[in-house]
Amino acid sequence: MTDAVRGSFPIRYRIIRKPVKHPRLELWGSELRIIVPKNGNPLRVIRENRRWIIEQIEFVRRARSVADRVKLIPRTRRKFKALVRKIAEEYSRKLNISLGDVRVRKMKSCWGCCSKSGNVTINSEAQYLPENLIRYLVYHELCHLIRWRHDRVFRELIRKAFPNCEELELELQAYWIKLNEKRLQIGEPVS
Ligand SMILES: [Zn+2]
Repeated sequence: MTDAVRGSFPIRYRIIRKPVKHPRLELWGSELRIIVPKNGNPLRVIRENRRWIIEQIEFVRRARSVADRVKLIPRTRRKFKALVRKIAEEYSRKLNISLGDVRVRKMKSCWGCCSKSGNVTINSEAQYLPENLIRYLVYHELCHLIRWRHDRVFRELIRKAFPNCEELELELQAYWIKLNEKRLQIGEPVS
């Protein structure tokens, strides 16, 4: 059972109470999630992580302005799947890892995920992204098959292939915002 409170200023946020041991903060799209134990104090989590939160607010603000100028790429689902598969095969050879299934499916809160058995799933919304961002997403997921956590080793692996990863993260965030707007316009539920 989780319990959530939502708000929107100065960043959209959600306070989620869960049976967790330690509080944590996550940025999901342009929403900040403050996850606290059942009797935890969200204000304290905010106070203790002020600097990180301010950085995220600034990141989302910059991404919003980039979102106005990014263009959605027209591409069929079939072509997108073939592209994802081709990139995954290319990078699995490069990284010397064994790749399981490569899947594309709609996901609400992230661009991709992978399982420890080597299966990689990419969000079908990435269909509208330029190829360099799709490459970046697939590479990120494959690196998790080498390093599970987003630690320093993982970040170095990413930076080796994508030295401009900060710029790419900002563009991804901008596309996330843009695609959410598109969904709002056609009346699909967000969240
Ligand atoms: Zn990751």
